[in-house]
Amino acid sequence: MSNTQVIKPGSTLGILGDGQLGRMLAMAAAQLGYKVAVLGPGGRESPTGHVSYWAKAWGPNVEVSEELLDEFCALVSVVMIEWENIPIALVERIKNKGIPVRPDSSVLAVAQDRMLEKAAAQSVGIKTPHYKHLEWGLGILTAKSLALEDGILKTCRDGYDGKGQVRVKAGEKLEKAWAQLKNVPCVLEELVDFACEISIIVARAPGQVPKTYGPFQNEHVNGILKNATKYAKGTSLLGYFWKEKSEQIVQNAIKATTSLAAHLDVHGLLAVEFFVLHDGTVLFNEMAPRPHNSGHLTMECCYTSQFEQYVRAVCNLPFGSSEFHSWGTMHNLLGDEEGELQSLYHSERTSFHLYGKKGEKTGRKTGHVVYYRIDT
Ligand code: AMP
Repeated sequence: MSNTQVIKPGSTLGILGDGQLGRMLAMAAAQLGYKVAVLGPGGRESPTGHVSYWAKAWGPNVEVSEELLDEFCALVSVVMIEWENIPIALVERIKNKGIPVRPDSSVLAVAQDRMLEKAAAQSVGIKTPHYKHLEWGLGILTAKSLALEDGILKTCRDGYDGKGQVRVKAGEKLEKAWAQLKNVPCVLEELVDFACEISIIVARAPGQVPKTYGPFQNEHVNGILKNATKYAKGTSLLGYFWKEKSEQIVQNAIKATTSLAAHLDVHGLLAVEFFVLHDGTVLFNEMAPRPHNSGHLTMECCYTSQFEQYVRAVCNLPFGSSEFHSWGTMHNLLGDEEGELQSLYHSERTSFHLYGKKGEKTGRKTGHVVYYRIDT
């Protein structure tokens, strides 16, 4: 199949991964008249499985038998991802059966490794925090001996929601922190004194002008996104900067994101998180080639949500507008916070999303609320 061929409504779209991002993606696909087949750890009993036409579970360590993969590939016209750590070998097996995966494995390989994504960002002129790549001998080192001050030691692979990272003091031996991270290859980053964190999401498809969303201004607690806000047009970032400076920062972040997506030749979505320094410098933090938590409020606040745009991109349908007609804040519900929200059902201008997760919920994202305003 050529990468510009239109996949028509009525077709079945595949999703790899079955969490909340897949759930919202499947619902956007259904709205456009597609059916969804999902492969993930939970199968039918998962946030995505609950709302999909076909859902099956893969085995431990993302094991997928040839028989199961054949069944999945016989159904789907194209495959999307909702988790970037899909084993590249699995993506290649799907492609070898003639089914495109969007974005391609070359993009996923970069997103799976902090060193590769920093190198990709730098190659298109985006600044990153100072860092050192460390694979061995960390025990005797300190951040200071590596010419860094206080820092964060992060695993090169498999980190998410603040997991796979430990803060370290400048003079402290890295031994303990590295042991906590199971002595795997790591990157030591300087602890950035940022004014705020923002993210931008871009949708890209061959032959179409990319659509960008953002900036979302993000607040993390213990490494997990807690709130994401899209301010009304003309409002400066958290009041930290004069309006003119704020606008320049936003334009720089948008340009950085679209250049990186073009460099990686993304067919689908790319989200990039940035640190904004007190002098307005924008530093690359990390990227994700999929719908992003900070963009959930695009469902309520934009003409076309990030989820619908991803479906349009992979099916080569014309993009919808990514403009905001409203502004607001998304608040993530963690663990059992969902149970305390009964009173909020009575408040106006809020929108609830609960993901139907089962089992141990402590610290997990179980839903989100969007508080939004229409007077842009
Ligand atoms: P990450 O998974 O790398 O995006 O880290 C999660 C969150 O931890 C970020 O959004 C920041 O709030 C914080 N963080 C990560 N790296 C740094 C850093 N180098 N300096 C300061 N804060 C950081």
